[in-house]
Amino acid sequence: MAKSLMLGIDAGLTRTKAALFDLDAVGREVAAAGVEGAVSRPFPGAAERSMDQAWTDAAEAVRAALASARASGADVAAVGVTGAMVGVWPIDDRGRPVRPALLVADTRGQEAIDRAAANDPDALDRIFRSGGCVVEPGCTLPALRWLVDHEPEAIARTRRVLSCKDWLRYRLTGEVAADVTEAAVAPGDARARNRSPEMLRIFGLEAHADLLAPVRPSESIAGVVTAAAAAETGLRPGTPVAIGAGDVPCSAIAAGAVDPGMACTVLGTTCHNGLVAGEPVFEPPNVGLLFTMPERLWLRVMVNLAGAPNLDWALGALFPDLAAADSGASVFDALERIASARPAGVEGLLYHPYLSEVGLIAPVVSRGARAQFSGVRAAHGRADMLRAVYEGVAYAIRDCYAAIGRPIAEIRLVGGGARSDFWSQTIADVTDTPVLTLEGGEFGAKGAALLASVAVGRRRSVREAAREATLVRRRFEPDPARAAIYAEGFARFKAAREAIVALHRS
Ligand code: ADP
Repeated sequence: MAKSLMLGIDAGLTRTKAALFDLDAVGREVAAAGVEGAVSRPFPGAAERSMDQAWTDAAEAVRAALASARASGADVAAVGVTGAMVGVWPIDDRGRPVRPALLVADTRGQEAIDRAAANDPDALDRIFRSGGCVVEPGCTLPALRWLVDHEPEAIARTRRVLSCKDWLRYRLTGEVAADVTEAAVAPGDARARNRSPEMLRIFGLEAHADLLAPVRPSESIAGVVTAAAAAETGLRPGTPVAIGAGDVPCSAIAAGAVDPGMACTVLGTTCHNGLVAGEPVFEPPNVGLLFTMPERLWLRVMVNLAGAPNLDWALGALFPDLAAADSGASVFDALERIASARPAGVEGLLYHPYLSEVGLIAPVVSRGARAQFSGVRAAHGRADMLRAVYEGVAYAIRDCYAAIGRPIAEIRLVGGGARSDFWSQTIADVTDTPVLTLEGGEFGAKGAALLASVAVGRRRSVREAAREATLVRRRFEPDPARAAIYAEGFARFKAAREAIVALHRS
């Protein structure tokens, strides 16, 4: 076999995946394998991961993907890496882990954020104006500040602070580097697509700037697989490895969202709504996230913390008979049949999908907001409530995109919810925007593999690679009659959302 396979490694918080893609067959996923990996929570607020385990999990996933494709390392033209973003993965001057990694979900860095805000009342605004993201305690700078304050002996031994994918790439190649997408959210500077001296000052980390690895473009070559890494992964020594990018930008690339005006919604456990722009977008202020993408693109993201679990809840709470009868895909088919028999807009019944225990973070922040039905009439039954749940998640998607306030050409829908044609159509109708669902499963790994294809010159640009490798499964056009019903429904959804937020403010 010619070397036409590209390997992508995606180290998620709970699962590390490796997938092989055939460049000669428009980027089709040839094989994928995953290894479960536990987040360790030694005490409340801590979220850590053994760095050595993260590497052995990745190596095992690569071996399993090669075996499943009946391929050998010689078939792999290049490797790309991605993973859960930011956190702190510290190594010493021999490249050994100093301590377990602090993950993005670790909250100990909140202390550093609170201190920065106390020292300078404008600090949080300045962070947002620079990076376009609401800073999380598990972002690299606040988490590093926590380590400096509480584990000085660990910091004294630390030579570099990496992120997850940078650590895996270091183990593959022996080369230390960071990439633009993660540097800009450390927090960093979204306009400069880099780290920010001002952000280092806000967290009092000027003296530790040299701990941060040099920033390189995502679609460039970092180095080649070492003999030691080859022995552990089954890859061939000398195989090129690209710098790679964070998992959110990689998923958007693999979804083909590489032109301004294209949107990408990931409807899984959470619901990420990202709009591609040709310049950094800071609207609306002090809410949401902004990711730097390759080739002078940016992705403005609004997240509803509860996505598809709203449907899981409706299944368990409203249709326990169905939930008990079957646990396969046919349950979702049955739910779709029930919901699609009810009228669009369910005669005024509305559902706000704020099931997350930490409430709402976009398009406004309301930690106390909770899910609710409104407009219930005596004639409404559980089938109507079910349809309202599908529609409510779609309204929340529209609410997020409306807050960004820019025209959307189309929405590329991925994640578990994209398996539902009814939900995809409902999102098209509610947002009055075409929705495209795509072939493939491992979008993060595919984005990393596409970056690798550019790094080794097999594709001329990330845009070209993404366009060529996106396989549209189905396109859902908005239905004008339903879109009109939902336009009126959205006005009520938004007014009721404002009331929910006001209720929990008081
Ligand atoms: P994660 O965000 O954890 O990676 P996934 O993207 O795999 O999760 O999405 C899992 C969710 O997808 C489940 O909560 C489930 O409700 C939803 N899901 C899976 N299949 C369907 C389907 N056919 N219709 C609607 N929802 C589905």
